[in-house]
Amino acid sequence: MNRRQLLTSIVTLTGIAAILPTIARAERKRGGDTAAAGPVLVDAKDAQAKAVNYGANHKDITDKALQTERAGVKWADQKCSGCAFYDKTKEVSVGGVKAAPCSMPFAAGKVVAQTGWCSSWAKKA
Ligand code: SF4
Repeated sequence: MNRRQLLTSIVTLTGIAAILPTIARAERKRGGDTAAAGPVLVDAKDAQAKAVNYGANHKDITDKALQTERAGVKWADQKCSGCAFYDKTKEVSVGGVKAAPCSMPFAAGKVVAQTGWCSSWAKKA
């Protein structure tokens, strides 16, 4: 390595060392923002949620045609918390609302309210 190459290497390494703390701060902030965001509730106004008549509260389902008995379970007793697709083991609180992931595609990456309901409701085995 000649003198010119040595000086170039020193300048390059000094520059990298100078920006590393900035990169580390940006990465920490990015990670912190993600963690702060937390789980997101399915929005009943979302087109996919509407397609399955999802409501965050069982009482929001006012269409009488949907209020039927399913698998021997009365309409009044059908809520996400008692649905086969509701993952109670991953239940969280989102703004004071108990919610958990639902395995239906419309809820992918989000959580549904335990008090909710949709037309895919199925009795827990
Ligand atoms: S499939 Fe079950 S858990 Fe998921 S939104 Fe519908 S009723 Fe709730």
